[in-house]
Amino acid sequence: MELNPIYSGMGVTIFEKMSALCRDGSRINLGQGFPDDSGPAQLLAAAGKALLERSNQYPPSPGVPELRDAVAAWYRRSQHLDLLRENVIVTSGATEALAAAILASVSPGDEVILFAPVYDAYAPLVRRAGGKPVFVTLRPPDWRYDNDAIEAVITERTRAIILNDPLNPTGTCASDEELTTIAQVCIRHDLLAICDEVWESVRFDGQVQRSLLSFPGMAQRTIKIGSAGKIFGVTGWKIGWLCAAPALASVLARVHQFLTFTTPPALQYAVAEGLASDALIDERKEGWARTRTFLNSALRAAGFSVLPNQATWFTCVDLPGSGFTLDDAAFAERAVHEGMVASIPVSAFYEADAVTSVLRLCHCKAESTLAEGVTRLARFRDALASH
Ligand code: PMP
Ligand code: GLN
Repeated sequence: MELNPIYSGMGVTIFEKMSALCRDGSRINLGQGFPDDSGPAQLLAAAGKALLERSNQYPPSPGVPELRDAVAAWYRRSQHLDLLRENVIVTSGATEALAAAILASVSPGDEVILFAPVYDAYAPLVRRAGGKPVFVTLRPPDWRYDNDAIEAVITERTRAIILNDPLNPTGTCASDEELTTIAQVCIRHDLLAICDEVWESVRFDGQVQRSLLSFPGMAQRTIKIGSAGKIFGVTGWKIGWLCAAPALASVLARVHQFLTFTTPPALQYAVAEGLASDALIDERKEGWARTRTFLNSALRAAGFSVLPNQATWFTCVDLPGSGFTLDDAAFAERAVHEGMVASIPVSAFYEADAVTSVLRLCHCKAESTLAEGVTRLARFRDALASH
């Protein structure tokens, strides 16, 4: 029996592969992005209380009103977005939100512009919807978006652009000028913007998220996606959401209705409480600002070349600049088996024309874990050099 070839020829993701190798505890896991604490006590207590004291039956399909209101209120406060409950649909993680946005908008033959390095779920979802992913390649060290490069791939069939800002894996953010450029392209060619902004609250150095949703002419053509997993560092919770103009949101709700229908209520209530606390959100962000500085400094002190990162849980290392001749995939493979440190090769985020010189490391870990990870990487480098 043949199943769909999109999936039957596919392996497990690099994130799953690396974490699987680490589960016996012998390796330091700086691969898949997740914190090594189990989440803020206040949030866990709220979830426990809701699990024991509130309903555990199907909540409303678009999300509990408390969470839809809390998402809208948080965006009004933190990003000055003009959102209300009817703009917000709660999903089981940003991954489901992406699936809903893509299934709702992409028809067979449509082309969707993706920027590489590209998050792993986008292209398979576009293909499963019958669409064609069209890649625009970004390059280190700045990973800039360029009007001409985008214009060059637009055709009569282009339907949407998927933008991940801040960008996983690079930890970089689009500038206001770049966002303006992308908005103008969308308006000029009547494109939908699917904005994966799961890293919006993990921005350092005082910078504030600007969503394409708030740009002139974009409110009716933007779907903004968020995730509590990143805001609070509870990646296993899988509470995400879609925000869009009510006419779009109601269609997205119909897709969600037949993907998962709804999302665990206790976790929704807890996230609603968490989003009401700017102090909690800031505390998480400040903690990750410290882990970023710690890992970047430890890497530099050990002679590694670190690329600039202003957001996310990730630090990228320039391998040639750090004295390695191996490409990123070979490096990550040998580092996890010989150096006992898991990392993610950035080439895994490209389908073609890959950047092969950059390694992604996850910094949202205890300082002792980060220090040991850097010690092992330096030892691995020295062992390579002596052979
Ligand atoms: N988009 C991006 C860019 C991500 O980095 C992630 C998670 N690492 C997701 C989507 C998925 O988020 P969730 O776990 O909420 O499904
Ligand atoms: N987004 C996570 C990362 O980049 C991985 C999530 C997943 O494994 N699906 O590390």
